[in-house]
Amino acid sequence: MSNAECRAAVITALNKPIEILKVPIPELELGALLVKITASTLCGTDVHRWHGPLSPKDKLPFITGHEPCGIIEQINGKRTDIKGDPIKPGDRVVWSYVACGSCYYCSVAVQPCICPHRESWGHNSLEEYPYLLGSVSEYMYVPPSCLIIKVPDEVSSASAAAAACAYRTVMHGFDRLGAIKPNETVTILGAGPLGNFASAVAKDHGAKQVLTIGAPANRLEVTKRMGADLVLNLDEVPELKDRIAWVKEHTSGRGSDIVIQVANNAATPEGLAMLRPGGRFVHIGAGGKANIPVENLPEQFTLYTVRSGEPRHWLHAIEFLASRKAHFPFEEMISASYPLEGVNEAMEAMASYKVVKPVINFN
Ligand SMILES: [Zn+2]
Ligand SMILES: [Zn+2]
Repeated sequence: MSNAECRAAVITALNKPIEILKVPIPELELGALLVKITASTLCGTDVHRWHGPLSPKDKLPFITGHEPCGIIEQINGKRTDIKGDPIKPGDRVVWSYVACGSCYYCSVAVQPCICPHRESWGHNSLEEYPYLLGSVSEYMYVPPSCLIIKVPDEVSSASAAAAACAYRTVMHGFDRLGAIKPNETVTILGAGPLGNFASAVAKDHGAKQVLTIGAPANRLEVTKRMGADLVLNLDEVPELKDRIAWVKEHTSGRGSDIVIQVANNAATPEGLAMLRPGGRFVHIGAGGKANIPVENLPEQFTLYTVRSGEPRHWLHAIEFLASRKAHFPFEEMISASYPLEGVNEAMEAMASYKVVKPVINFN
């Protein structure tokens, strides 16, 4: 593959049109993979990095996108997937981010998502080897320390790509939360891809009822098919006190046993007001600012915050998509498809909230 090139969507300057450029395909280190991308979904983080800078780790110029699914083209050496099964060229896969494995968070706390040396995609300099670390690209380089998750035939490339960010984060949240008892009500704040996926997982994990709050109305129709027993349209119920009253009405006046926030920071104070004393709260959605009045915190409640996912959460998300396919219409969460050349249109549509989860499809 030396001297070979492929096309990729490159952010060369913040807020400027994304360019389709030729990028070198690198030689593979031992244990590395070259993957031909089949689909790359976009998420809010890509828009933030385009408007950026989101973090000092963002290095212009970079290939945008961090939610890939693709087919293995080449492997340097022998590799297995996360379950220990061999992998080979032709397998369709997703792959985890990389934690260092030797810092305090990796080795003592066993909380690799907060490893300070963690590597992720969609913001890495195009000028440094191995160049291809963004997903809106014909090919991606998979470093040797990534864990590989095979994608079964039942899961579309677009859904698998979304599992590489949104869905694995939701799975991490449910992992931290632990078991849901059959008498418990779960309230979900947010009806985007995370909220809809979380509604499905909550129902599947045995909640008595799932109450989902979000907007707009057409998205809530999908939410109902994704396992929510009842939905509340934010556009129709703009007053916070009315939304709290709605949750209490459906929980014998106590409030929800579990609240999962997958909207933004501003939704967390609202969600805490909907939680019953002693309940459990999962905070996932970031962005924006909010203050929590400590004097109003529910008594004896538990708060889980969630960052990204561990490699096994990629597997959990893929297995959930495959094994629950008959129960939930996962494909309805991917809202629009674009070719590589349509990347600017896709990003604009995301930035203006016209589409929820666009996918760039490669042939
Ligand atoms: Zn993402
Ligand atoms: Zn580490």
